[in-house]
Amino acid sequence: MGKFWLKFLKSTAVIFLIIIFGVNYSIQKKKSIEKFKKQADENFFTMDNNISSVNKLLNILETSGDTYYKKNTRVGNNNFRFKYIPEDDLYISTDESERVVVGVDKISSRWSVKKELDMSEVLASSYDNVIGVMPDIAYIYYVSNSGFINLFPKVSDDKYSSLKNIYKLNFVKKELFSKEKSGENESFWSGIYKDPLGEDLLISRGAPIYEGSTLKGLITLGLKSDFFVKKIDSDLILEFFIVDEDGNALSTENLQNKKVSKFYDSLPQKIYDKRYKLPDMKPCDIEKIGKYYIYYEQCNSSPWRIYYVTDSMKLHSEMLKSNLVFLSLWFMSLVFLYGALKRKAVVEDSQQTIEKLQVMLRKSDKEIEKDFLTGSYNRKGFTKIANLELERMKRYDIDACVMMMDIDFFKKFNDTYGHACGDFVLRSFVRVVTKNVRLSDIIGRWGGEEFLVLLPETDYKGALLAAEKVRKMVEREVFYYHKQSLNITVTIGVSTLNVRKPLEKAVAEADAAMYRGKEDGRNRVVGFQDIMTKDVKWKK
Ligand code: GH3
Ligand code: MG
Ligand code: MG
Repeated sequence: MGKFWLKFLKSTAVIFLIIIFGVNYSIQKKKSIEKFKKQADENFFTMDNNISSVNKLLNILETSGDTYYKKNTRVGNNNFRFKYIPEDDLYISTDESERVVVGVDKISSRWSVKKELDMSEVLASSYDNVIGVMPDIAYIYYVSNSGFINLFPKVSDDKYSSLKNIYKLNFVKKELFSKEKSGENESFWSGIYKDPLGEDLLISRGAPIYEGSTLKGLITLGLKSDFFVKKIDSDLILEFFIVDEDGNALSTENLQNKKVSKFYDSLPQKIYDKRYKLPDMKPCDIEKIGKYYIYYEQCNSSPWRIYYVTDSMKLHSEMLKSNLVFLSLWFMSLVFLYGALKRKAVVEDSQQTIEKLQVMLRKSDKEIEKDFLTGSYNRKGFTKIANLELERMKRYDIDACVMMMDIDFFKKFNDTYGHACGDFVLRSFVRVVTKNVRLSDIIGRWGGEEFLVLLPETDYKGALLAAEKVRKMVEREVFYYHKQSLNITVTIGVSTLNVRKPLEKAVAEADAAMYRGKEDGRNRVVGFQDIMTKDVKWKK
C-alpha cells in the first residue's frame, strides 16, 4: 500500500510541481511585466514633466519678448557697444557681460534694429534665471531677422566665427525665412542637430517673436542631449528611447557617443530586424520582440514617444527575486512530503516483512517440532506436548501412560532392501500406529526406529490393551515395497505417568519394559509395573 502511494505520489508530485510552477510562473510573469510598466510609467512621468518645464521656461522668454514689442516702451540708447572684426566679418558687443551679441552683417542704424537690440537686452536679464533652473540648457540664443545673434552664455573668441552657422541650422532657416508665418506664436521642437559651437548634440525648443504680424526673430533654448539620456535606476528597465516623429532617437547610448542615429538603429539587432512591427504598437501596450519587451507612451509636452525596453532576463530575475521564498518553501514541503511518504512506506514494508518472518518462524517452529520423515512429533515436540499434558493432569488430578515402541529387526530392512526401504517401513509403521490409537494420543519419534506414544487419561490397564492392539495391527499389516511384501513386528514397553513421576522417568521405565520384551523374544507388550511386581508377560 505504502509503496503504491509512494509511486503514485511520486508521479503526481511531478505533475503537481509542473502545474503549480506553470500557474505561479504565469502569475509572476504578469506581475513582473506590470512592475516593468509601472517603472516605465514613473520614468515617463518624470521625463514628460522635465520636457514640459522646458516649454514653460521658453514661454517666459517668449512672453517678455512679445511684451516688449507690445508695450513699445523702452528704446535702448544710441551707444552701440559693438566693434567690427574684419577677419570674421562680425560685429561683437564690447560689454563684459556673460552673453555675446554678434552682428553677421553691418549693423544698420535703422530704428527697428536698435529696437531689436534693445529687446535682446531685456531677454538677457532672464537668461541667468532660466539656466539656473535647468542646467541641461547649453545655450539660449535670440536670432534676429535683421542679422544678429544674442547668445548666452558667452563663448570663447575663437568660436565667434562659428556663430554665423546658427543661421544655417535647418529649423532656424525654416522658421525665420518661411513665408507662411502668420504672426502666430507657435513654439516648436527642432530635430536633433550638431551644436555649431562645439561637438555636442543639441535639441532646441524655439519660439518666434513678433512685432504685430512681423516676425522679428527666434528665441531658442538649446538642450544638451544629456537631458534625454538621464540614467534611470529602475531595475527592470533595460533602456529607454525618446523618439521624434521622424523616428530619430533623441536619447540613446549612441547619442552619448555624439552620433545621431535612428531609433531603430539603436535597438538591439533582434528588435531592429522586426522594426516594421513597432509602428503598429499602441501606446501603453507591451510588444514582445524576441527576448525583448517594448512599451511606449506618447509625450504630452512634445510630439515624441518614449519607448521602454526590458528583456526576459530582467523579468526572470525579478520573478526569481519575488518568488524565492515561495519557491523554497514549496520545494522544502515537497521534499518533506516525499521523505515522510518514503519513511511510511519503509515502516509498512518492514512491518510486513516482520509479519511474514513471524509466520515463517511459527511455521518452521512447528516443523522443527515435527519429524520430517514420518510426520510424527520429534523428541523436542513430544517432550513439549507431554509436559503440557502433565500440567493439565496436575490441574485435574488424572493419570496417563506412555508406550515405548521399537521395531523388531529393523536393521534387516536397511540391509536387505536399502535405506530407502527402511524409511518406507518407518513411515508405514507410524501410519499404522496412528490409525490404531486415539486421536488424542500423541506419537513421537524418540530415536531411529523407536517411537513413544503418550496416552492421556489412560490407566495402566487401558494402556496395556491399547499397546496390544497396536502390536497386533502392525503384525497383521502387509507392506509393499517395490512389489516386495514386508511384514513387521514391534515390541512395546508400557509405563504409567502421573504428577509425581516426571516424563523422563516414565520414558525410562517404558524403555526398560520394552527391553525386557526384546529379551523375551520380541513382538510383545511388557508393562513396567508388571516386571516390578508379578513379572507378568503379555504374550500374543
Ligand atoms: P531389534 O530392535 O529388534 O533389536 O533390532 P533392530 O535391527 O531394530 O536393532 P537396532 O536398534 O540395532 O537397529 C536400528 C537401526 O535402525 C539402526 C539404524 O541404522 C536404523 N535407523 C535408524 N534411524 C533410521 C532412519 O531414519 N531410517 C532408516 N532407514 N534406518 C534408520
Ligand atoms: Mg532400536
Ligand atoms: Mg529395533
